[in-house]
Amino acid sequence: MPPTNLEKTVSSLCPICLKVVPAQIVQEDGRIYMQKRCQEHGDFRELYWSDASLYKKFNRYWCNDQGLTNSRSALNGCPLDCGLCRNHLTGTLLGNIDLTNRCNMACPVCFADAGGRIYEPTMDQIREMMRSLRAERPVPCPAVQFSGGEPTLREDLPEIIAAAKGLGFSQIQIATNGIRMAESLNFCKRLEKSGLNTVYLQFDGVTAEPYKVVRGRDLFPTKLKALDNMRRAGQTSVVLVPTMAKGVNDYQAGGIVRFASQNLDIVKGINFQPVAFAGRIEQEERDEKRITIPDLMILLEEQMDNEITRDDFYPVPFVFPISQLITAERGSPQPSFAVHPCCGAATYVYKYNGHLVPITRFIDVEGLMEKVRIEVEAFNGSSLSKLKMKGMILKEIPRFVDESRAPGDLSVTKMLLRVLRSGTMDSVREFHNRTLFLGAMHFQDPYNMDLERLQRCGVHYAVPDGRIIPFCSYNNVHRKDVEARFSK
Ligand code: SF4
Ligand code: SF4
Repeated sequence: MPPTNLEKTVSSLCPICLKVVPAQIVQEDGRIYMQKRCQEHGDFRELYWSDASLYKKFNRYWCNDQGLTNSRSALNGCPLDCGLCRNHLTGTLLGNIDLTNRCNMACPVCFADAGGRIYEPTMDQIREMMRSLRAERPVPCPAVQFSGGEPTLREDLPEIIAAAKGLGFSQIQIATNGIRMAESLNFCKRLEKSGLNTVYLQFDGVTAEPYKVVRGRDLFPTKLKALDNMRRAGQTSVVLVPTMAKGVNDYQAGGIVRFASQNLDIVKGINFQPVAFAGRIEQEERDEKRITIPDLMILLEEQMDNEITRDDFYPVPFVFPISQLITAERGSPQPSFAVHPCCGAATYVYKYNGHLVPITRFIDVEGLMEKVRIEVEAFNGSSLSKLKMKGMILKEIPRFVDESRAPGDLSVTKMLLRVLRSGTMDSVREFHNRTLFLGAMHFQDPYNMDLERLQRCGVHYAVPDGRIIPFCSYNNVHRKDVEARFSK
């Protein structure tokens, strides 16, 4: 049920001492701010969401999941109980495992700071962490991402990927700067052979400038070489990951989308990440660089001449009814995208005749999701058969598609029917192959931390002591301690 009062009090952290403090979410001049006071460190005011009307739209899509049935006890309060604790509301959708904090670069925006110690779990520890993720109930974690530091510095990366496959992960990905891929075609081939599904490639722009500012040197040619080598190795699923900051690469958002659309044979999506601040940063610098999800959507709108607009984006939990549909059909709980609506946004665009057409232009996505939600709810409270429920949805699909506005070479109705009818990976893959995913996730920092968002987080870290820790909790609260305990 969407909350009716959008101005509210939540819990946050003091950005200096990280103690939990109450915070007010308030609207002012069409923007949303977070205000909080720490008894010891004073008052803080941070931009939370830069467009109030988009904030209202996104907040229509709150939904609740039940979290884990085998969670840990909660003793000290959020965010100290991460484990996952029994107050956490979302199971792991994507489990991260840091393979090392070593890196072949030294970027000022990095979460993982080596600080003189080497954190590098052994193969046995990595297996145990993967087992913890797969042991989650009622839904074993379906996807794992190996990160760092730079995970490609591990010589045993192909063996680690193969082990993940053996443990039943259906999606295996790495988050990388691509340097090793650019250096070695053979390395790309080894990764491909080991069962790697997707490469999350750090990608800050399409010219030299952003790389020089953010990474200290021009890495654009390296990204091109990495893409080329991966292509030659047979990789077909790369997601570009730009860290976006005002005054650094905000003017490149549209260019990155255009670049992706010219490389659709290998680039399947873009996951924009508005910058999250690490450590103590002065208000002036934060105001100068802070980008929120609405800013990003508006930048895309401006830089893409309205080919893509803010109205084409929806929050992550928008697709929650699809999880409910698959759960109802299979009779067993499935991964659900019940994260907080302010954490992320996404849309799909289709390329036709050199133009990008968001699917929202020819599919009434809101009507379709509402139809799915209503039918699944009716099914859950009745003796209707699964076939009948699905039939009711499929029968109505044409009502939500405007074929006259769809790109000429695409039968949208047929494609949607295939996806919803079979729900197989092949049909979903066909959809992905013909579209480009545009997503954004705004990781939190201690300045804008909202513990309601944290409690619904679906992107987690597995750590060597068996705990599963939400991403934004790990990076802001627990990382230092874990790395100190398990470093060499
Ligand atoms: S973030 Fe989640 S797991 Fe961590 S303490 Fe809060 S509710 Fe528990
Ligand atoms: S990682 Fe951070 S931004 Fe992403 S879902 Fe979790 S809490 Fe939200």
